[in-house]
Amino acid sequence: MTTISTRLQVVKNRITAAAGSSNRSSDDIQLLAVSKTWPAEAIREAYQQGQRLFAENYVQEALAKMRQLSDLPIEWHFIGPIQSNKTQQIARQFSWVHGIDRPNIALRLNDARPQNLPPLQACLQVNISGEASKHGVSVDDAPALAKYIATLQNIRLRGLMAIPKLTSDYQLQRQQYKMLRDLMLQLNAQGFELDTLSAGMSQDLEAAIAEGATLVRVGSSIFGNRY
Ligand SMILES: *Cc1c(COP(=O)(O)O)cnc(C)c1O
Repeated sequence: MTTISTRLQVVKNRITAAAGSSNRSSDDIQLLAVSKTWPAEAIREAYQQGQRLFAENYVQEALAKMRQLSDLPIEWHFIGPIQSNKTQQIARQFSWVHGIDRPNIALRLNDARPQNLPPLQACLQVNISGEASKHGVSVDDAPALAKYIATLQNIRLRGLMAIPKLTSDYQLQRQQYKMLRDLMLQLNAQGFELDTLSAGMSQDLEAAIAEGATLVRVGSSIFGNRY
């Protein structure tokens, strides 16, 4: 077996084990392979092992790989910060975007989404750590942004995404993801029908799954360390 296929299997085993510990079905947790910095061949290798969902952070890098992999029916997710001059390319090329954190970005994506494609599937990025350096809407401002996005025809709000403050402390990881889960419950109590918690990375996917993650974004544990 190749390194990527071995690592992929290890990650899937971690997801299954974490789901089991919380009495959840691993079928309810999707694995998003984060391929930033890795070449198209690495993505192809993971695809051959059955991986279908891939995520990229930088538009130009992503478009180059998409061209090389246009023979594969990959579902592409954009998980990087969204610059307003990149919204057109993102809206045309990706199925999902995870980083919406302000209304004008949502509007630009909505207006650029081609009519022949399904609505852009979207998550709000929430700043759960409160760190000033982090992107994301605050927990307090998230409901207003969610209401705004609900008015846009070409974007379908599916859920919430967060990048927590890095810590190896399991309880602190859980506390942060619990804020995200509570916010989703609060929004759904207000009438939203969110079904996606984009939470958990290589280091903390167990904590995220314990707090309800439905989509884990895993890079280095599949492809190796980025330099
Ligand atoms: C890079 C990245 C990941 C993957 O991180 P790993 O620690 O390599 O698993 C997940 N989410 C976002 C938003 C990222 O930028």
